[in-house]
Amino acid sequence: MAEGETLAALAEEARSCTRCSAQLPLGPRPVFRVSATARILIIGQAPGTRVHESGVPFTDASGTRLRAWLGIEDAVFYDASRIAILPVGLCYPGRLARGGDAPPRPECAPLWHPRFRPLMPAIALTLLVGGYAQNFVLGPGRVGERVADFRRYLPHYLPLPHPSWRTTAWERAHPWFGEALLPVLRQHIARLLT
Ligand code: SF4
Repeated sequence: MAEGETLAALAEEARSCTRCSAQLPLGPRPVFRVSATARILIIGQAPGTRVHESGVPFTDASGTRLRAWLGIEDAVFYDASRIAILPVGLCYPGRLARGGDAPPRPECAPLWHPRFRPLMPAIALTLLVGGYAQNFVLGPGRVGERVADFRRYLPHYLPLPHPSWRTTAWERAHPWFGEALLPVLRQHIARLLT
């Protein structure tokens, strides 16, 4: 972090980023929400095409599922003064030849996260949504094992699966997620939002 750097100036700089534009099929459009007062930080993967179009994080089916997990409504989820959202990749990275979204651009998180994080001193809980977020913050590991072992990372972090449609079947096969993890997650969220 540069001395005297402000969150507003950094956000402006990030919104203008074109660092990896040659690799972005739809061009740069960084999508994130930050504030100095947020108590909760959500680190997700990267925007999909719908989020690229809207310019608002999690305006897709994944966002609907994530809000249901958190037990909060849109108005709270999108209150940046309480919840910050900073994905591993800020721009839509394109698709893989075999289908599915490409991984977040590898240069993105190392470029922005270390600069944003010190400017959000009120963050008490960081939700690590999916493998890319978990691997960036915690180092290499397996998503399923980390989510199952979620208590180990509290109170500062809580690993979650990526809330894509594929997770529906995974949730059914792992009932402890709804029975044990979600109640704990909602307790922490409710406490930090009040
Ligand atoms: S993905 Fe990240 S590094 Fe690449 S242009 Fe967007 S903000 Fe910049």
